[in-house]
Amino acid sequence: MKNSFLVIFVPCLFVLGLVISLAIVQEHKIPIKNLYLPSQNSKIRTKVVTHVLIHFISDAAIKPQNPYNIQDIYRIFVNTGTSSHYMIARDGTIYFLVGENRVAFHAGKGELPGLPTYKNKMNEYSIGIELLAIGTRNEMLPVMSEKTYNLITAKNIGYTDAQYRSLNILLNRIFKRYPSIKRDRKHIIGHDEYAPDRKQDPGNLFDWSRLKVLS
Ligand SMILES: [Zn+2]
Repeated sequence: MKNSFLVIFVPCLFVLGLVISLAIVQEHKIPIKNLYLPSQNSKIRTKVVTHVLIHFISDAAIKPQNPYNIQDIYRIFVNTGTSSHYMIARDGTIYFLVGENRVAFHAGKGELPGLPTYKNKMNEYSIGIELLAIGTRNEMLPVMSEKTYNLITAKNIGYTDAQYRSLNILLNRIFKRYPSIKRDRKHIIGHDEYAPDRKQDPGNLFDWSRLKVLS
């Protein structure tokens, strides 16, 4: 009896150990690269962070066949005076653009039900995460022609598994640093939920069920 218990228990422990160490290795394998934006693209934060806003960004309107060149995206931020704290590339690489202790300019005008003090001030209370992605035809037509959208390769539309994996890891780290952010869908929101009249991102192709937050 004792022996058979050991025969089962010891290999189980071994497998469990392997799974845990693989998970740790996996977590550390996600590359984070610094790609700081100029200081005029952000400002000092004074409010308590309570939300995370998810966005998509690409250069598809100008380069539909090469929409994810990192330097091109960087230039979009610089030229428009906008910013986000992080950007997650198609391969899951996380780019660090603005310090979390600064306010990034990603949310713009909008509001959330029941939170009047947040009206048009979401940047002050949030961390912005951009995913390099392109939405559906209808979501993209406000910013590009049908002809341009047709030039985009199918694999460049929507989100990648690597992006969901990195996003979950990044969110975990943010939750650890900010107990003030509740880990639910009221506080981890899309730009299209904050500004539904103006914004289409992250859009219908983003699968919220893949985020490890409460619904
Ligand atoms: Zn956005």
